[in-house]
Amino acid sequence: MFIKQIKLSKKMFLSIFLIILMILSLIYYSAFTNSSEAKLKNDKSFIKWVDFGITTEILEKTAKLDIDSHNNKEKIQFNWIELLSYLACKNGGNFKNFKQSDLDLLIENLKNGKTIEELTKNMKYYNYYFESYSAVLDQFIGYYFIETPNSDGTKSLKYQYGIKAFSPIAKNYNFNHYDDFGNSRSYGFKRTHLGNDLMGSIGTPIIAVESGIVEACGWNQYGGWRIGIRSLDKKRYYYYAHLRKNHPYIKDLHEGQFVMAGDVIGYLGMTGYSQKENVNNINVPHLHFGMELIFDESQKESQNEIWIDVYQIIEFLRKNRSEVYMCNKETKDYSRKYEFCENEQFIYK
Ligand SMILES: [Zn+2]
Repeated sequence: MFIKQIKLSKKMFLSIFLIILMILSLIYYSAFTNSSEAKLKNDKSFIKWVDFGITTEILEKTAKLDIDSHNNKEKIQFNWIELLSYLACKNGGNFKNFKQSDLDLLIENLKNGKTIEELTKNMKYYNYYFESYSAVLDQFIGYYFIETPNSDGTKSLKYQYGIKAFSPIAKNYNFNHYDDFGNSRSYGFKRTHLGNDLMGSIGTPIIAVESGIVEACGWNQYGGWRIGIRSLDKKRYYYYAHLRKNHPYIKDLHEGQFVMAGDVIGYLGMTGYSQKENVNNINVPHLHFGMELIFDESQKESQNEIWIDVYQIIEFLRKNRSEVYMCNKETKDYSRKYEFCENEQFIYK
């Protein structure tokens, strides 16, 4: 009896041991597959960070090369984003170290028939820079239709190639700014400034820099009356904040609305920094302008948002400002003076 009991215990022991082993291998297997999945998710190859360090001077130089080569119908037509990405490989993305000789040699090689693929095949980070800069600048230069004034007071429609992104401040309205990206802000919680403040007069018409869809519109305790516009390729989210008390937006502006580059969208003000709606709690009237890059939708509202320093871009866009006029005396709303579109179908509709 005693011996049998021991035998039974041994059997039981073996069974328990086997069960534990099975449980352990199940745990191990699930942990392993989970971590593989997690690894795949982490390895999903989208860009996680961009430092936009291109100076206005280099944006202007490369834009001119691109635009002139298209307008003059030259045999070799340059793409400014390719030129900028090549230069970034030469200076590590810091354009304060720009060398004119690098650009001259690149242009000479391209004119002599070498392709950008050949010239960049040994540049490890070329694709990274090209994808990053495309995410920022892709819709800034291209073909578009615009109304232009004639000497007899009429307007005619022109099809042309050039800069088709607009300054966020309407033409003939003054503003000043400095590079305040990354400065610290203290309202709510300690955080850094993820945009550029453009100081101007209350009521200054605010312009859509690029065509897109209104994704956010209404009160936000930090931004006050604000507008968020997503570019049509979904890569850029433009943020316009602290708009005017009582009359922040043009009439009927709403989420889901399509706005064209150069359209009036709202008015400069000093709202924000308040949980209560429609409160001026900012000392100096200004537009807060920001640009977020989105390579994967998971980045849009996350701990890993990519906001870039837009100071040099605002300077670059000074030369392309949308002229406006008061289109409605009752609502005191403004509208663009010259129609514009990137697609023929829109303008003739
Ligand atoms: Zn700001």
